[in-house]
Amino acid sequence: MPDESRRLDSVCVYCGSSNDADPAFIAAARAIGVSFAQADIKLIYGGGGVGLMGAAARGAYETGGQVLGIIPQFLTGREQPFDDVETIIVDNMHERKMLMFERADAFVVLPGGIGTLEEIIELLSWRRLDLHKKPIVFHNPRGFWDPLFSLLKHTIDEGLTPPTLADCWRSVEKAEDVVPALLSWDADFYQSDPQTSVRLLT
Ligand code: AMP
Repeated sequence: MPDESRRLDSVCVYCGSSNDADPAFIAAARAIGVSFAQADIKLIYGGGGVGLMGAAARGAYETGGQVLGIIPQFLTGREQPFDDVETIIVDNMHERKMLMFERADAFVVLPGGIGTLEEIIELLSWRRLDLHKKPIVFHNPRGFWDPLFSLLKHTIDEGLTPPTLADCWRSVEKAEDVVPALLSWDADFYQSDPQTSVRLLT
């Protein structure tokens, strides 16, 4: 019997595709993938086999977890899809992002580059427009995301972003705290607003 009280089945991970990242970040990405599998959370990701994304997917897959990759055709050479997992090939970046968004009940952001930034800014801007209320957890090792948080705070301090936007994400330093943050958020979130659907985007 599915657990009807549980609303967190699939979580999208946004993260870097570079193999040149700090090996500690890559190891943490793998550990987060493992923790998804152990918590029975399906990992939705960008479909590549490289960098942090490949490490997270392999960690989940090799621990018996479910993984769904979503990748545009033109990137299948560069980002080398991880063939062992379910992969959807789409036509372009917009389709990829929309499908990743739609399939996920929540999001985890790991260290990444410009592509990851693009994805998270869109997610936050959709939240700011009340298009969704899906939980967002940053993995913030070594304060990696602190410059982004400072910039967001700056836009709030300047009256350009509503202060409430800062309530829509949580940040954890340790890889092992990511899944607990997601699961506790899920409970709090739906207790405070039980009518809220996880799929608000129309
Ligand atoms: P990066 O953080 O630059 O390593 O990129 C992380 C992932 O984001 C990679 O899989 C990129 O292909 C992807 N990405 C970059 N730009 C976009 C975009 N505009 N839409 C969707 N995915 C993107």
